[in-house]
Amino acid sequence: MKILFAASEALPFIKVGGLGDVAGALPKALVKQGHDVRVVIPYYSTIKPQMKEKCTYLKYFYFYLGWRNCYCGIFEAKVDGVTYYLIDNEYYFRRAAPYGEFDDAERFAFFSKAILEILPQVDFFPDIIHANDWHTALVPVYLDTQFRWREGYSYIKTVFSIHNIEFQGKYGMEILGPVLGLGDDSRKILEMDGCLNMMKGAIEQSNAVTTVSRTYAGEIMDPYFSFGLDPILSARRWKLHGIVNGIDMEVFNPATDPAIPFHYDADHPEGKTEDKKALQKELGLTVDETIPMVGMVGRLTDQKGLSLFYPIMEELMKENIQMVVLGTGYPELENFMRFCDAAYHDKFRAMITFSASMAQKIYASADLFLMPSKSEPCGLAQMIAMRYGTIPVVHAVGGLKDTVIPFNHLDGTGNGVNFQSFNAGDMLDAIRRGLAIWRDEEQRKAVTQNGMRGDYSWDASAEEYLRIYQSV
Ligand code: ADP
Repeated sequence: MKILFAASEALPFIKVGGLGDVAGALPKALVKQGHDVRVVIPYYSTIKPQMKEKCTYLKYFYFYLGWRNCYCGIFEAKVDGVTYYLIDNEYYFRRAAPYGEFDDAERFAFFSKAILEILPQVDFFPDIIHANDWHTALVPVYLDTQFRWREGYSYIKTVFSIHNIEFQGKYGMEILGPVLGLGDDSRKILEMDGCLNMMKGAIEQSNAVTTVSRTYAGEIMDPYFSFGLDPILSARRWKLHGIVNGIDMEVFNPATDPAIPFHYDADHPEGKTEDKKALQKELGLTVDETIPMVGMVGRLTDQKGLSLFYPIMEELMKENIQMVVLGTGYPELENFMRFCDAAYHDKFRAMITFSASMAQKIYASADLFLMPSKSEPCGLAQMIAMRYGTIPVVHAVGGLKDTVIPFNHLDGTGNGVNFQSFNAGDMLDAIRRGLAIWRDEEQRKAVTQNGMRGDYSWDASAEEYLRIYQSV
């Protein structure tokens, strides 16, 4: 099958958030299954120089976006069997960062149209175009309104994936013609509540819509989670699917991870205790393997459910535990973590920074990993934690509900602990249940083994995407 994967970011070239991980991993997994997969991203000036060196210039041409005659250069690179096309236009992509510019609507309209315009230029007409998030949401719209009758385009099917429903590409209706170059016939496709909404247009026009976990696919049909898109998604539920993301099992591997001092695996987990003692020492905590370490790595934002700690932190700190937090985010939450570090300094460490190596040390050293997210489309951190033999304690929502199965001490199944309602007391109870499991050697062994032996690879998810491609 010929698949064109369109995204505004993709590893190993550029990553801002989770989309970059998915756009890096999924095409690789599809190529492994024997498909012709090509990825198209913008040629941002901020792409790392060593990756720019891997790109060769192919050609340039011009196309019209509304009244603007736009330059469009094409660079090409091949990495791990995947062909990448990078769309060059310095006016749009020579910026300090990929997103957050005043003219993002125009920049990504240009990119979306370029994705379709380059097909005859590179002589690749795919069976499927897989677009992702609002930046490429106009691809199915342009395809249906401006390209269908051109040679080669009539049979292309489209799949649209929602990674972050909060950003929908919402603008005033007045940009429809002058900026996007779309006619009045597109008004009905894109209009929602008096605004132009690019994501809504993609949901309308794509042959299938996916999001990053099965539970989240159900949740976004509810106003609590949907940021206003629930009526559209409910009406199109017949084509809405949830497919959980994977993690890179090679990168996140406690047996080889260069960021941790002692290596281990499910059969020989002893190194985990050594890693914990090393981290206790590094952070100036009491070095004692019998004190459970509770870890947290992630953005310190409301969505991650951190407000639940306000009412229970004092109670939690009465437990004989150590708590280690790594993250950046809202100043109020950062300051709360700093306050806890000062107030409970014998057992609490807050590191308000971004550090990939410290993150790995925490995954490896912690005994419990907390993720009380208010909403969580998929979540990677809980899967990384389980891979490192750390017991996740999560709010049963979105991808957390799909990946963390409550431990059952009667039959030894399950890989973590969860709580159902978004409530501080329930979270505290779940943490205490997690601690009880950890303190019971037999239960600890069962739950961490289940976690470490879990398959979080992209292979199973790639199969599911293929099934959707085939079905459309
Ligand atoms: P989200 O994409 O909503 O931020 P995920 O759990 O899906 O949450 O992914 C977050 C990823 O970013 C994890 O791999 C986590 O380890 C990493 N991460 C988050 N904050 C930090 C930080 N301060 N330092 C290092 N890694 C971080």
